[in-house]
Amino acid sequence: MGIELRGTAASPGIGLGTARTVRMPDLDFSAVPFRGETAEQTRLEEAVRLFLLRTEDMAQALGEELGGEAVGILTAQRMMLEDPALRDALRRAIQEGACAEAAVDRACGLFRDRFAGLEDPYLRQRAADIEDLRRRMLALLLGQEETDLTALPPDTVLVLHELTPSMTAGLDRDHIAALVAETGGAAGHAAILARALEVPAVLGIPGALDHIPDGTPLAVDGGSGTVLLDPDGRQQADFQARREHWMADRAGLEAYRREESHTADGRPIAVLANLSRPADAEAAARACAQGAGLFRTEFLFLDRAVPPAEEEQYRAFCQAADQLPGRKLVLRTLDIGGDKSASCLGLEPEADSFLGHRGIRWCLDHPDVFRTQLRAVLRAAAERPGLRLMFPLVDGLEELRAAKDLLAECRTELETEGIPVPRDLPVGIMVETPAAALTADQLAREADFFSIGTNDLIQYTLAVDRGNARVAKLYTPCHPAVLRLLRDILSAGRAAGIPVCLCGEAAADPRLTPLLLAFGLEEFSVSPPSILPLRRRLAVWTMEEARQVAREALERSAAQEIAAYLERVLRA
Ligand code: PEP
Ligand code: MG
Repeated sequence: MGIELRGTAASPGIGLGTARTVRMPDLDFSAVPFRGETAEQTRLEEAVRLFLLRTEDMAQALGEELGGEAVGILTAQRMMLEDPALRDALRRAIQEGACAEAAVDRACGLFRDRFAGLEDPYLRQRAADIEDLRRRMLALLLGQEETDLTALPPDTVLVLHELTPSMTAGLDRDHIAALVAETGGAAGHAAILARALEVPAVLGIPGALDHIPDGTPLAVDGGSGTVLLDPDGRQQADFQARREHWMADRAGLEAYRREESHTADGRPIAVLANLSRPADAEAAARACAQGAGLFRTEFLFLDRAVPPAEEEQYRAFCQAADQLPGRKLVLRTLDIGGDKSASCLGLEPEADSFLGHRGIRWCLDHPDVFRTQLRAVLRAAAERPGLRLMFPLVDGLEELRAAKDLLAECRTELETEGIPVPRDLPVGIMVETPAAALTADQLAREADFFSIGTNDLIQYTLAVDRGNARVAKLYTPCHPAVLRLLRDILSAGRAAGIPVCLCGEAAADPRLTPLLLAFGLEEFSVSPPSILPLRRRLAVWTMEEARQVAREALERSAAQEIAAYLERVLRA
């Protein structure tokens, strides 16, 4: 029996192959002398020039391979290196007598530690990008070649300290069976990269490079986070069978790469995509999404010193619409606050940020930022008829009316300027607070559509912070209070004759599929990788069977009983 190592399940799939360990280059610069201020500044500038050149090449290679997200990480590195504060710190370190290597180490280390100490998990992840930048700059200055991973033998399992964006550029993807790294978590950038590469990956195994000698046969399960060293014959056969099953399952999903979705008895259901980052529109188009039920515009505001101008937002909206031509695209206005921050907006930290200044509340209190976005939406919608507008975290009619008034003002302003606006722009709201859910009948009279945000609706209904690991086991869509609200929102929408979509993670939860169908949901919006599996699940249910499951689920009164019942149904 081989030794088993356990780590974070970061990218699903089974990989069998031979370990190729990748050790980081030696970045020791203790013997590098200080050659004088001018000489060190010149060396630094030359390294910066090379870094930018190579980053550009990598971004191009990655852009073709992986789409926008990975390129975004490289762009962020480039922006960091061009950041005046970092450049200033570098210059000062050299003026104080540091060689270029020591200056890079000191300045980048300082910025990395600053980011690592931040509360916001998104910004904390930037620390890994700065560390990658530090290592790449040091390697350039010391003349150390970056590891060449462009030509690998078939069935290679890469074992490394950390998977970095720069490493994935030009990676010989066809020959990689799996990835194993000493660092990284499920929501980190390395995991995002591995998933974008569609390579099974297990991250966060400390000491993996010491435990796994080069050339060791490995069996990797990226879905459970296990790595088996020297699997014996029986284990090899077991992994091989699981690999074949996984490949067949993936191939089986291909049949659902088509626009229509319906239940087993032929009821058409729309499956749309949630767009949370630039690469998602492409991924949504590849999965033949019938449109995008949620475009989280806040990602345009991250990683930058100043908020995006009207023109930039207008272009981003048009671009996303062009990737889903002729289809619906719901632009949700800036939903900042809560667990989402953007340094360019200078948000004040709050004790109860989820109950505080977030979503539509923040926007109504910052009309300049809000108006810029509304103008961009109106301009884009004048040219792209599929666009819709949606406001987040609406609690009641006052907020909806205030937001619509601002929209009307922006419309008049643009008309006065002679800029085209759409004749009719459907305006909907997220239903994601109990207040909105319980007054859905009233809101439905003034909203053109609803989109149910279960991620927030669950946390506010159950009073369970969606990001707090200590209460994570209490956070469930299977609580009868949540299920009743979902049922009632859908029936309020139906009574008012307005469309209702569900764009929270619950839309992709296989346990809920029959219940949502039974409650009358006809539009599901999920992240792009969930589109094909959802279509496959929808095709399993007839409406009568779904109603039967819903009746039985709602007869139970404890969340755990409901969850257990739905899981039994799923296995049957
Ligand atoms: C939700 O709350 O369900 C939702 C889709 O919005 P977000 O996750 O962006 O808060
Ligand atoms: Mg929400």
